[in-house]
Amino acid sequence: MKVLVVGKGGREHTIAWKLSQSKDIEKVFVAPGNDGISIENKCECLKIESIKEILNFVKNNNIDITIVGSEEYLANGIVDKFEESNLKIIGPSQNAAQLESSKIFAKSFMKRHNVQTASFNTFIELKDALEYSKKASYPLVIKADGLAAGKGVFICNSYKDSTQALNELMKEEKFGEAGRKIVVEEYLKGFEASVFLLMDGRNYKFFNVSKDHKKLLEKDQGPNTGGMGAITPHPDVDEKLTKIIFQKIINPTIKGLEEEGLLYKGFLYIGLIIENDEPFVLEYNVRLGDPEAQSMLYLLKSDFSDIINDIEEERVNTTNIEFYDGFSFCLVLSSEGYPFSYAKGERITIKPEITSKIFYSGVKKDGEDLLTNGGRVLSIVNKANTLEEARNIVYEEAEKIHFKSKYYRKDL
Ligand code: ATP
Repeated sequence: MKVLVVGKGGREHTIAWKLSQSKDIEKVFVAPGNDGISIENKCECLKIESIKEILNFVKNNNIDITIVGSEEYLANGIVDKFEESNLKIIGPSQNAAQLESSKIFAKSFMKRHNVQTASFNTFIELKDALEYSKKASYPLVIKADGLAAGKGVFICNSYKDSTQALNELMKEEKFGEAGRKIVVEEYLKGFEASVFLLMDGRNYKFFNVSKDHKKLLEKDQGPNTGGMGAITPHPDVDEKLTKIIFQKIINPTIKGLEEEGLLYKGFLYIGLIIENDEPFVLEYNVRLGDPEAQSMLYLLKSDFSDIINDIEEERVNTTNIEFYDGFSFCLVLSSEGYPFSYAKGERITIKPEITSKIFYSGVKKDGEDLLTNGGRVLSIVNKANTLEEARNIVYEEAEKIHFKSKYYRKDL
């Protein structure tokens, strides 16, 4: 089988690597990919980015199935375009992708279907949002309606903070169209969990729960990032909590998707916050997470191409999903300054004795050298019987990788 993965980050590297392990997979193309992915056996990155170019490549090269990693392509309707040409693709339609690409769409969906979520209001006029936040109690969370790569969420501790966030979003239009409409949400205090489901358009299957670390700095301080590390399975989600998550989140979500004709082939990622043993949905994402994919797929024992086939053939309810025992631990190495401005083009050196898996995100090749080329540069992943062991191995190995502005959290 020849497959194509759409995207260019560590998540796409992981998907491509896991597929390449399968004996049924002859070749994995990644569009556009990155130079770190090309190092992988059977994998080739294509220097093409637009939906049109990707579609033409798939048609002309007899690609059996396409798997979309990145949300932008889904929000821009890649799945609808492929389906119009009768090509097999894993991902939601543009309509269903609104669960992720519009927070107003998602919150309204949750409200209609009694999915537990933080209470909220939506605004399209700056003056109404300012008026509301003058009287609100704090902290308060202000979110851009559209996609903003994790940067469109502001946790405000005062009216002054809200005014600044609202002006940035709705007046200065820093996030363009994405921030013209906003959601103002109650602040919840608790721990976060990322729940993943496989969906085939008819059935669904629970995949795993992972722990992501969104904040840049230790003790969960500082700005939000795309994610600084992940642990699978989530160490704080036990059987009792999982039951409540099914009852209050997964079951009503699936029922709602069915009723509204929004079921699709792919992954549903439900971002939760758990406050006093009660789960609340923060967001829906319609694809795998980054860096959760790195830790989940590294722990996955089952053949990933079998799972993709089961999604395509609409039989995920009978899919046998096996994970290795224990935990996997993923640590992101980023460039100092991320998620704001940071240096690029720094030489990456890796000691040969490293045993952990490295998934590349922001890198490019310069001759034989690999250089940094993004905020999140790479992730280091390993697994062990205990979380402590997995964590210790990865932290030791982080010292065997060097680039000038290397930064990582030391407290995951
Ligand atoms: P973007 O749309 O910019 O890509 P996102 O989709 O990642 O952002 P969310 O998941 O809704 O946005 O929020 C990002 C992070 O902000 C969460 O992981 C959480 O840490 C924090 N956050 C969001 N909503 C709340 C809330 N109601 N209470 C407390 N923290 C929150």
